[in-house]
Amino acid sequence: SFEAHGQESCFHGRHINPQIYAGLDGTNWRLKDYEARGGYQALRKILGADGGQKMTQDEVIATVKASGLRGRGGAGFPTGLKWSFMPRQFPGAKHLCCNSDEGEPGTFKDRDILMYNPHIVIEGMAIGAYAMGVNLAYNYIHGEIFTVYERFEEALEEARAAGYLGKNVLGSGFDFELHAHHGFGAYICGEETALLESLEGKKGQPRFKPPFPASYGLYGKPTTVNNTETFAAVPWIFRHSAQEYLECGKPNNGGTKIFSVSGDVEKPGNYEIPLGTPFTKLLELAGGVRGGRQLKAVIPGGSSSPVLPAAIMNECTMDYDSIAKAGSMLGSGAVIVMDETRDMVECLVRLSYFYMHESCGQCTPCREGTGWLWRMVHRIQNGQGRAEDIEKLDEVAFNIMGRTICALGDAAAMPVRAMIKHYRHEFVAKIEAAQAAAA
Ligand code: NAD
Ligand code: SF4
Repeated sequence: SFEAHGQESCFHGRHINPQIYAGLDGTNWRLKDYEARGGYQALRKILGADGGQKMTQDEVIATVKASGLRGRGGAGFPTGLKWSFMPRQFPGAKHLCCNSDEGEPGTFKDRDILMYNPHIVIEGMAIGAYAMGVNLAYNYIHGEIFTVYERFEEALEEARAAGYLGKNVLGSGFDFELHAHHGFGAYICGEETALLESLEGKKGQPRFKPPFPASYGLYGKPTTVNNTETFAAVPWIFRHSAQEYLECGKPNNGGTKIFSVSGDVEKPGNYEIPLGTPFTKLLELAGGVRGGRQLKAVIPGGSSSPVLPAAIMNECTMDYDSIAKAGSMLGSGAVIVMDETRDMVECLVRLSYFYMHESCGQCTPCREGTGWLWRMVHRIQNGQGRAEDIEKLDEVAFNIMGRTICALGDAAAMPVRAMIKHYRHEFVAKIEAAQAAAA
């Protein structure tokens, strides 16, 4: 059950300097608990609610820029810079959206944040809205776990009743309304422009970028879309300082990050640790490789990120730059651990089926290519592989990349190319065995 998952995932105390999970015990998600942990102090300070000097919008954005906070949804785009894109003098409505439609295989952090610390997201969104001059915002929540949506709605009611939302927030003159909206489980609705289409009531299909949502977003108005964990990181920065946030981590990789560790580990779950922590330390927190087996490989940032063999991972630190240098992506922080018994062709069958299933079908290279990829990997796995299949697989994947409307095409292709690069011998062995059996 979700509760069982949450208990295991969030409250086992195996975090290092947690900022988002700090003080959580699995039951203390309500407003009074959050306030007791210092919640809403950052918003109060920014809005001058306790008699202090109100911060200007520029000061808030400059603080977020100085903190080095990078988007936690996957792309790692600098948050302060994104906030500064919002046109300040735009006549008419502007919007803010929280992307809680996490669907990347291996990722299960945002649902935990919303379930066990929903007010931290509301506070982060209120700060962002104030900074960008937005009065209306939405949180688009993944539709497959309805409890999360219900929990967030309850938290919104509490925040409204306490004056953190609505007209004239904390007597500051700033109006801010926030609504929750739940999707229906389509992976593609986590892509920010598909999310906006879906929020508008249309079929959730990505738009061409540019224009980026910053200039043409929800209902054609300037819109900023940030991930749940990104908003959750914001209050800490203002309660402490941008400098402290930056220093918790390593240069260009400030703050903590929640890693969803799954696969062949003793203690799968969410772990909040400073960016820059060695991978080996994270693996140790997760109880090590299951059954005392050897580590074979790791998918470090969700299923879209290229697999890395153990020897490379063991040298990496968990931050955007180190993982990129090693040839993969930190992505959403979904760390899928594979032990020595894993059959990499079988793993790829499952991954490629996922992308074929979730392709929205708008563009030919993705719609047709994801089907080609799955069919070829599937036949190799099922003893019908042909000698030319490996080169053909790599070629099809290469021809998808960079030729589609959204990142799903690349996400389907990159795991294939990485598996062939690092584990070609496993593909060859299956094809040769099939040929020997047929002879
Ligand atoms: P992207 O690099 O295109 O954009 C990142 C963000 O920066 C977007 O919000 C975009 O609007 C903004 N941006 C970038 N350049 C801009 C510009 N010049 N002007 C204005 N805004 C600009 O990446 P993306 O397609 O949004 O995200 C891809 C990532 O999502 C992948 O790396 C993957 O890891 C991740 N992902 C996450 C999940 C999940 O469940 N969390 C699911 C699928 C993919
Ligand atoms: Fe749809 Fe795939 Fe094209 Fe993205 S890349 S728009 S998911 S068909």
